[in-house]
Order: sequence, then C-alpha cells, then structure tokens
Amino acid sequence: MNSTLLLDIIYLVASVTFILGLKMLSKPESARNGNLIAAAGMTAAILGTIFLRNNQIPSIIYILLFAAIAIGTIIGWMTAKKVKMTAMPQLVSIFNGMGGGCAALISLMEFPEHAGHMKLMITVMAGLVIGSVSFSGSVVAFLKLNGNLNSNPRIPFYNVINALILVATLGFAAYISFAGVKDMNMGVIALAMALLYGVMFVLPIGGADMPVVISLLNSFTGLAAAAGGFLYHNEVMLTGGILVGSAGTLLTVAMCEGMNRSLFSVVFGAFGAGSAAAAAGTSATGGTIKDISVADTAVLMNYAKKVVIVPGYGLAVAQAQHVMHELEALLEERGVEVSYAIHPVAGRMPGHMNVLLAESNVDYAKLKEMDDINPQFDTTDVVLIVGANDVVNPAAKTNPQSPIYGMPILEVERAKSIIVNKRSMNAGYAGIDNELFYQPKTSMLFGDAKKVVTDLVAELKSM
Ligand code: NDP
Repeated sequence: MNSTLLLDIIYLVASVTFILGLKMLSKPESARNGNLIAAAGMTAAILGTIFLRNNQIPSIIYILLFAAIAIGTIIGWMTAKKVKMTAMPQLVSIFNGMGGGCAALISLMEFPEHAGHMKLMITVMAGLVIGSVSFSGSVVAFLKLNGNLNSNPRIPFYNVINALILVATLGFAAYISFAGVKDMNMGVIALAMALLYGVMFVLPIGGADMPVVISLLNSFTGLAAAAGGFLYHNEVMLTGGILVGSAGTLLTVAMCEGMNRSLFSVVFGAFGAGSAAAAAGTSATGGTIKDISVADTAVLMNYAKKVVIVPGYGLAVAQAQHVMHELEALLEERGVEVSYAIHPVAGRMPGHMNVLLAESNVDYAKLKEMDDINPQFDTTDVVLIVGANDVVNPAAKTNPQSPIYGMPILEVERAKSIIVNKRSMNAGYAGIDNELFYQPKTSMLFGDAKKVVTDLVAELKSM
C-alpha cells in the first residue's frame, strides 16, 4: 500500500473518531471514552502527517517537531491533571486560545507562499483574522474567569470603537487578498489588528454572558483550523475544524436560547456594559434577611413531601456534590421526593452541574432542566439553594434596569419555603444583589456548602 493511500485511510478513520467522540461527549457516561477515542484519532492523524505526508523533511525538523510535541504534551498533561473542577472553564478557554493562535501562526507562515493568489489569500486571511481573534479573545476570557481582570470593565462607546476596529480589520484583510499584496509586514499588521479586536471584543462582555462568548470563541477556533485544512488540502484538519466550528456554533445557539439573549445582543450589547442601568442593577436591594439553623432546616426538609435542590457554582467550589447525594438519599429513604433543578448556565461552564452531580452518581432522572422544573415549584415544599445566586435572581424577570434582565431563571420563589446556603451576602458572578434573599419566604443558611450539607446529613440521621 502506498503512503498516500495509507494516509488517506488514517485521515478517514481519524475523522470518524472525531465524530464518534463528539457524539459520546454528549452523555456523561460515555464522555470519558469519547474523549479518549477522539484523542487516539488525533494522535494517529498527527503521526501519519509527520511520517507519511512528506518524507523529504530534514532530520532537524523531526527533532524540532517531537521536541515541541513533548513540551506541549507535558504542559497539557500536567495542567489538566492539576486543574480544579472549578477552574476548568479558564483551562478550556486558554486551550481553545492556543488552537486559535496556532491557526493564526500557520496562516502567517503561509502568507509569503500564497501572496498574490486571490483565492488562497482569502483562506490565509480568514485563518489569520479568525485565529487571532480567537487567541486574544480567549486570553482575555481566561483572565476574566481566573479573576485577574475585572469581569465587567466599563468602556465608554465600546460598541462604536469595536465596530470601527472590526470594519478596519476586515477591510484591511480584504484589501490584502484582493489587491494581491505581497508585503509580509502587511500580514503582521492584519494580525495585530485582529488581536486587538479579539481583546476589545471580549473585554466589555461580562455578567452572565461569558458562557456564550466562550463557546463562540470555540467555534472561531474551529473555523480558523478549517481554513488551515483548506490551505494544506488536509482532510482531517478540515473535518476537525468544521466539527469544532459547528459544535461550537450549536452550543452558542443553545446557550443564547438558555439565556434568552440574541447573539447580536451578547456581542454588541453586553450585560452591564457601562450603562446607568447596570449601575442600578448592582445597587443593594436592602431589606432584612432571616437566618435559619441547620437543625430547623433538617426538620423542615424531613417533614416536606417535595424538595428541590438548586445547585450552583458554590456547590462546585465546596466540592459538596458527594455529601449532597447522601442528603438526597437520606430524604428519599424518609419518603421525601427529591429532584435537582439544573439551570443551563449554573456554575462556570456548560453542563457544569450535570458533570458535578454525575461524579457523585446522582440518578440522571433526578436532574430536571429549567423548563421542566419551573412549573413544579408551585407544588414544592422546600427549595434548598446550594451555592447558586444569579440563576435564581428574580431581578432577571422583574427589573428591566438589571444587567441580567431577560435571562430565564429558576422560579424558586413559587415554592412554599426557600432556603439559601452560601457563605455571606456576597454577589454571584454577575456582581449584583439578589432580592430573593430578602423575601419573607426565604431563609439564609450561612456557611460553606460542604460543611452545611454534612451537618444537615448528621442532623437528619439523629432525628
Ligand atoms: P453565582 O456565581 O451566581 O453564585 C455562586 C454563589 O456561590 C456565590 O454568591 C457565593 O456566595 C456562593 N459560594 C461560593 N463558594 C461557596 C461555598 N464554598 N459554599 C457555599 N456557597 C458558596 O453562581 P450560579 O451558579 O448561580 O450562576 C452562574 C453564573 O456564572 C451566571 O451568572 C453565569 O452566567 C456565569 N457563568 C456561567 C458559565 C457557564 O458556562 N455555566 C461560564 C461563565 C460564567 P458567597 O461568596 O457568599 O458564599
């Protein structure tokens, strides 16, 4: 069998592993294997490309290639091993940025090769611009999620500034492609403009819009990689890029639907983007709050017919998922019907709560999507909110001045009693006060989620 045919077969098999892997990622039970299958396909594609595509590579290039692969593998492996579940979104963001950066660099390298050929230059410039935006945008998203950058900096007239930078960048890229520009410096300038746009694009987006932006950047990286696939006539790069691009786009659409936001308003009308409305949204609601003890909470739950648990980011921070499952089992043993209300953007990454609760073997049938659980709150005796805040903030429905106005929320205030566990009165990710905490039906159960739920379990056992 000649090497070209063998490589084509490897590419085909690798493409199939990507599709299978992606499919398997959609369910927590098969996600781990799906990831491994796709990674095996990618490894075969990389090795096939190195050894079968062009055997006139000088040996120094082989040494450099494998040194780069070794360094990347070690850094990637160690980072992924060490990362805490709660820091996963930052990691995903920065890894995604690396993909975009690679695609941009590939395009820059190919610039002199294809300069003057209009069709190929359109592909080169597409990879360069989209990859650069994805890279710098992902770095900013990483810094925001990691807490190194203000989540919602106020940039005056950012819409106008961003529109100008975008039009200038696209116009310049089009000029390079259509006018047959051969000067490599022009390519570097286009790269710098796209990098700047990436920074400016993500910088003003904050509040609850970050999940949408992360998946949008993900799809950008896919598109940039697909442009590389076109350029090199590399089928597996093309398939991989298209899959990432389309999966990212579908996720972006799903996240927008979950947040009840149009993509346009996410990108051009960021939540809390420096308006007076945002300032009004962040103002303290005031009012008085009511404390509840662990013992009283245990009694309330023990005598309830129906309890709904609302997990949020704080549950992940405290790593309270295992003890939460124990609490749920204990209540079920006593005849209480227990389910979990899952908001699409609870936590810090899409599917965060599902992954977290799957870790502690919670029955999937108990995880209820927002649209299914909302009508059930009317017949719920106790809602136990653990480390969630923005996803239960009624301001999203009632206060047009609020930066999260319009986002669908879990309508917990329809239940008979609401118990909120968090450590203090601090705000959640969107940085705004939550009037739910001051409502007469709400009681605050302060403390670290793991400690509080562990105490609740002990209290219930002693009853
Ligand atoms: P929030 O970030 O709104 O609130 C989490 C709450 O948990 C905080 O108010 C905090 O209060 C509390 N908390 C933190 N640590 C602990 C602990 N150890 N024990 C008990 N409580 C704790 O979380 P939600 O899940 O309600 O909402 C998610 C937010 O994140 C949304 O705004 C969403 O848009 C955004 N986001 C979501 C992403 C996604 O893809 N899912 C990605 C990026 C952002 P205190 O400090 O007082 O304890």
